[in-house]
Formats: sequence, structure tokens, C-alpha cells
Amino acid sequence: MPHILIVEDEAAIADTLVFALQGDGHSTEWVTLGNTALEQQRQRPADLIILDIGLPDISGFETCRQLRRFSEVPVMFLSARDGEIDRVVGLEIGADDYVVKPFSPREVAARVRAILKRMAPRSEAPAMAGHFVVDTLRMQISYRSQSLVLTRHEFRLLHCLLEQPQRVFSREQLLDAVGVPSDAGYERSIDSHIKSLRAKLRLIAAEAEPIQTHRGLGYSYSPDHS
Ligand code: CA
Repeated sequence: MPHILIVEDEAAIADTLVFALQGDGHSTEWVTLGNTALEQQRQRPADLIILDIGLPDISGFETCRQLRRFSEVPVMFLSARDGEIDRVVGLEIGADDYVVKPFSPREVAARVRAILKRMAPRSEAPAMAGHFVVDTLRMQISYRSQSLVLTRHEFRLLHCLLEQPQRVFSREQLLDAVGVPSDAGYERSIDSHIKSLRAKLRLIAAEAEPIQTHRGLGYSYSPDHS
């Protein structure tokens, strides 16, 4: 049974979430402070955290930043108004999704299901792709026998490309793979993730170009260039 931690200082909102999520077969825990959430996650790790941005002690953003130092748990932000979240910033600090209040608890429950499904490891054994070895369980990829230090978005991006060599993925498809709703504004962030990924790969093999750019189309992984 997936365990969901709800971090929300308004009891009425927390109640509707607890009700919807428990109805969906999840166990839930509700806390009102960012610091309590961090403590909880250390002691009894949840499978997903629903995190309000406006909290009485530290903000949801700050909570997420601190969380990411020790946990890769998926995070869904609750935002008081549209525009509170700079989407790119939200992505960069490691959010998986967000909803704007007032929201439908059913919709939140559906999104929670979608995130958990996406997080489920597809295969247990490390998979080879050219010079790459992908370990989905540990969220680790090594390149030419060297372990890459990747952000979670870089990991998912590279993993997606490696799974289907030569296939050209559009930015929208890559956003999907990363797990971000693909509306306007996000697409350029794919370019910046690709850029930093390439920089990390070049440190290992300066001349290789395993990630190919297809102008106007997107990106692909080319084993021939890796
Ligand atoms: Ca609040």
C-alpha cells in the first residue's frame, strides 16, 4: 500500500486529500510544517509527498530543496494561486507535478496514481546500451565504466533516449518521459537539461556525441557516436 505524506497547514484541504487518497487505497499521514515533513521522511519514508507551498515555518520550496539532499521521493506541490510556481524553478528543485488550489481531490488522486506508476521500476537488472549501463533500481547510469552524477530529470531523460537508440524524440515526448506536463514554457528546459547532460558526458569522452540534435525535431541517442 503506497504511503503518502501530506504537508498542508489548512485542515480542511488536508482532510479532503486524506479522504480521496485513502479511498484510492493509499495510507496517508498529515503534517502541517515543512520541518516536520523532513523529519518524517527521514524516519518513515513516504512513497510520495504532497507539499503545500505556503507553510507556517519554511516554504514548500525550501522543504523540497532540503528534501532533495537525502531523498528522491516524488513531490507534488500545492499552489495557492496560478503563477505562484515558476514552473522551471519548480522543475529544477525537483518537483514532479503541481496543482493549483482550489483543486478537485479526485484529480489529485489521479495524478498521484500516475506519478507512482511512472516511478515503478521497469526492470530490475542493469541494462546495457552501447557504452552505457543503466541501473533503474539505483537510478544510476554509467558511461564508459564511469558512474554519472545525474539529477533525476537528467537520469530520466538519458534513460528514455537510451531505451530506443536512433529514435528521434520531440521535446514534448521527452518532457513526458521526464514526467512533466508538456505545456508551453517547459519545452526549453529540455534543452538546458540536454546541455548539462552533454557537458557531463564530455568530461568522460570529449570527442563523442552520443546525444544527437535533430534541428526542429528533437534529440536521439546514437550508439555510433558514443
Ligand atoms: Ca498553506
